[in-house]
Amino acid sequence: MSDTKNFDVVVIGGGPGGYIAAIRAAQLGFSVACVDEWTNAKGGPAPGGTCTNVGCIPSKALLQSSEHFEHAGHSFAEHGIDVAGLTLNLPQMLKRKDQVVKQNNEGILYLFKKNKVTFFHGRATFVASAAGAAEGGYTLNVTGPGAAALSARHVIVATGSNARELPGAPFDEKIILSNTGALAIDAVPGKLGVIGAGVIGLEMGSVWRRVGADVTVLEGLPTFLGAVDEQIAKEAHKLFTKQGLKISLGVKIGTITKTDTGVTVEYTDAAGAAQKGEYDRLIVSIGRVPNTIGLGADVVGLALDERGFINVDGDCKTNLPNVWAVGDVVRGPMLAHKAEEEGVAVAERIAGQHGHVNFNTIPWVIYTHPEIAWVGQTEQQLKAAGVAYKAGTFPFLANGRARALGDTSGMVKFLADATTDEILGVHIVGPMASELISEAVVAMEFRASSEDIARICHAHPSLSEATKEAALAVDKRSLNF
Ligand SMILES: Cc1cc2nc3c(=O)[nH]c(=O)nc-3n(C[C@H](O)[C@H](O)[C@H](O)COP(=O)(O)OP(=O)(O)OC[C@H]3O[C@@H](n4cnc5c(N)ncnc54)[C@H](O)[C@@H]3O)c2cc1C
Repeated sequence: MSDTKNFDVVVIGGGPGGYIAAIRAAQLGFSVACVDEWTNAKGGPAPGGTCTNVGCIPSKALLQSSEHFEHAGHSFAEHGIDVAGLTLNLPQMLKRKDQVVKQNNEGILYLFKKNKVTFFHGRATFVASAAGAAEGGYTLNVTGPGAAALSARHVIVATGSNARELPGAPFDEKIILSNTGALAIDAVPGKLGVIGAGVIGLEMGSVWRRVGADVTVLEGLPTFLGAVDEQIAKEAHKLFTKQGLKISLGVKIGTITKTDTGVTVEYTDAAGAAQKGEYDRLIVSIGRVPNTIGLGADVVGLALDERGFINVDGDCKTNLPNVWAVGDVVRGPMLAHKAEEEGVAVAERIAGQHGHVNFNTIPWVIYTHPEIAWVGQTEQQLKAAGVAYKAGTFPFLANGRARALGDTSGMVKFLADATTDEILGVHIVGPMASELISEAVVAMEFRASSEDIARICHAHPSLSEATKEAALAVDKRSLNF
């Protein structure tokens, strides 16, 4: 195999887990290749994975645009700005989103060049190579535009995940949409159905509601956002319902039938009554499944668990020597920043360093309006674990900056250990929660107490004062409420 290109590390997948692992490995002095098969509309490479192409980035672009539209239509007048003849230019909104995605794709290709990571556009498959494996190395075949034969001492698998389909209702991306189709609807649907009130369902439902769709969200679970702190989830449910999202909990989805004009969803509501929803389009956001298609896992005996995730230990080591796996394709939260942290940690472990991911301080964000963000334990988790805790909340209604912004819904909530005062969880529903949560992450990483945050000087007027005030509230001494 004289044409085989040899690397210290080959990373399969160029999403946030893979491309960050590749860059970190290159920084550490390894010769690194990254193989990614994502292809743009022109047939060119589009590294960045789900996150960049059909996830985090395009969804946030559309959330921003649709929020501007909603503000222009509803809240500008209150600021003394009258907008006459407001119209939606959906093709431009989608074009801008595509440009944002393209900038990110190009940014990753630039970073690969800068860090001397060799990029191959195509699909990487493990090739059985008893000799290679015995020597602690692996052979990979790349098919596609960047076809090549590669060998590597270490392989990092970061092949991500795909949207889960509902049985009997495959995605056609025209009427029945995954996240991919939901980010590219070419005309605002009159009636939009969303199955699944998780992060993706709520974000996508919000985008299309803001630009005029009548959105119904059907959720199988009896509670709204069950993983979120109950008090925060209740507040969010109230706010989203007020905005016009119709959310039905505890439904049981039955038959889904495509019609000439759209789709019919038969379901049973929480009271057990048969219902029928007719929609122009249907977004199905019921979770994601790990992606190992075409990887050749079986060829080399890479072990998967019963749900199809690659089996890894706490260090992201698989059952094969020198084969690692990170991100959505392994256990743990399906979040871009979790994938990135694992990618960095694995590259450092390969270099003999002590890479580390603290799963207790991974922040979660839902980019609705208001945003929801949290880190650490919820009140219900603490109760279930029998942990004695103190809680403090502070409403944005009492925050000067929020009033000036005209964005006063929601609150910050602190949970701290009853004895030591160590912060155990921080939960926010409100403006810029995604940014505010960082302070809590830092505090928890340093095992700070609520008193520490309460005694730190926060700029005035700023939303972050609500964080300080919630910390003060743990000791029942809020100053502004
Ligand atoms: C609509 C939506 C919104 C989201 N918003 C957020 C958010 O705001 N914040 C957040 O943290 N997370 C968000 N996520 C989740 C986030 O996108 C994922 O957690 C993240 O992309 C996982 O990164 P990854 O590197 O593991 O996999 P991916 O990003 O899925 O990347 C995997 C890459 O590997 C490639 N690949 C697969 N197999 C092969 C192969 N054999 N050879 C070569 N290439 C291969 C794929 O083509 C893909 O490019 C969102 C997801 C969706 C769907």
